[in-house]
Amino acid sequence: MMTDKFTDVLVIGGGGAGIAAALSADEHGAQVTLIEKESVLGGSTGMSGGGISATNTRFQREAGITDSKDSWLALWHARQATSNPHSAYPDYNFVNYFMDEAVKTTEWLVDYAGHHYPAITGFGLDPVRRIHFAGEAGSLGGPILIQNLTQALKQHHIQVLLNTSAVSLKKQTTHSITGVKATSPDGSFVIHAKAVILATGGFAKNKAMLAEYIPNGDTLYQHSYSGPGNQGDGIQMAIKAGAVPYDEPWIIGEGITTNVPKTYQLTMDWSKLYVNAHGKRFMNEQNHYAVVTNLVMQQPQPWLVLDSTTANQAIISKLKSGLSTNEVVQGATINELATAMNVPVESLSTTITTYNAGADSGKDSFGKAQEFVKKIQQAPFYAVKIYPIIMGTFGGVKINQNFQVLTNSGQPFDNLFATGETANKAIYNQVYMSGSSVQFALTSGRLSGQFAAQHLL
Ligand SMILES: Cc1cc2nc3c(=O)[nH]c(=O)nc-3n(C[C@H](O)[C@H](O)[C@H](O)COP(=O)(O)OP(=O)(O)OC[C@H]3O[C@@H](n4cnc5c(N)ncnc54)[C@H](O)[C@@H]3O)c2cc1C
Repeated sequence: MMTDKFTDVLVIGGGGAGIAAALSADEHGAQVTLIEKESVLGGSTGMSGGGISATNTRFQREAGITDSKDSWLALWHARQATSNPHSAYPDYNFVNYFMDEAVKTTEWLVDYAGHHYPAITGFGLDPVRRIHFAGEAGSLGGPILIQNLTQALKQHHIQVLLNTSAVSLKKQTTHSITGVKATSPDGSFVIHAKAVILATGGFAKNKAMLAEYIPNGDTLYQHSYSGPGNQGDGIQMAIKAGAVPYDEPWIIGEGITTNVPKTYQLTMDWSKLYVNAHGKRFMNEQNHYAVVTNLVMQQPQPWLVLDSTTANQAIISKLKSGLSTNEVVQGATINELATAMNVPVESLSTTITTYNAGADSGKDSFGKAQEFVKKIQQAPFYAVKIYPIIMGTFGGVKINQNFQVLTNSGQPFDNLFATGETANKAIYNQVYMSGSSVQFALTSGRLSGQFAAQHLL
């Protein structure tokens, strides 16, 4: 039998948003308890690259990097415009606010939480060096970020309860919360709190929610690489308590993958050709990985096509294991390949002829840079089925700029806050921006912790 607990600020979820919220609420004078349903802290944040984008930080200036918010904003506009043209999102007031606060978060993490940035880099199509990495370039920074933040939690003696899952919110009035019902291996109990911060991530690990909110969402579950705790708990608890969900939820794309083991190098390989079930090319493969996911998920069974040129031999040796499961097919000619793929022969043949002509002329019909247009001419030919990868979701519950959750009436809860993927839709249409999602988690966490602590005064 567990006894009830009492705290000033209760943070639910121990990923980037939750840990930042706990540190910040403590910094602003609140007594804080953080609960995490898994046996370790980290969530998706701990599995991520850990890179956080921000512009004109003192770290960029020290490294001689010239950058501006306007440049990031221009990129933001251009990328979001590649998705739903009828969308009500992003809310650029919120994007502006986020970008200003992201600079402060990037510096606060070093000054207050003992974090550091051994590398500040660009990535892929985004050459501006604005992603502040926790590890050396090329290393996985998420675990380092979580390690540093966990150390800060310890230094500030913040209470952390692992294996403890929030189940439901306890309401006092329409606009106020008194705490949560929680469970742990020792039983159920109530945590009474003066303010509650929801930092439970998104719903990329909840197949039913993906199916409900995203077209063909249930099929995306197969390659959802989010943290296991991202089951939409906080979103569902808040909605039950009267919160309003954001419209137009979407997924955070991370390019494509195959069902053949050890083929990860194909995930962001711009030199390959993609075709759909009609044997037609449908995109410039040299695209931001989030855009790639969006375009690929709209197509009937997309394939990646490659020939037997020397440069492809290493990946072909891996792909051969997919021949027995029909994830990979091969043909001695393009016509044979089309038949094995079950796509119209003439259509695939025309696609390849056009693609090869673009390699010769330097004018690819989809605008791919010539260095990535490799002729498909060396038999035998291979095609492998490709699938979109998701690493999180956009959506959650509506919040105001104090990160207070909004009710049906449009009024905020006094003391219920939401952060990270639990409330991230305001800044995106359908396209993830490199280094923005961990940054949003940390920035919304830092600010919600501050506002929650100030609410107690
Ligand atoms: C493989 C991968 C790579 C990525 N790479 C990048 C990148 O390089 N840059 C970038 O910007 N973004 C990246 N992302 C996305 C980014 O990591 C996330 O969007 C962001 O970190 C989400 O932070 P969060 O705090 O909202 O959620 P999380 O970090 O997932 O934290 C949520 C936590 O809440 C816990 N929780 C859930 N329900 C409950 C409950 N009922 N009770 C208690 N605890 C609960 C979960 O277990 C989890 O620990 C990546 C994601 C993945 C999966």
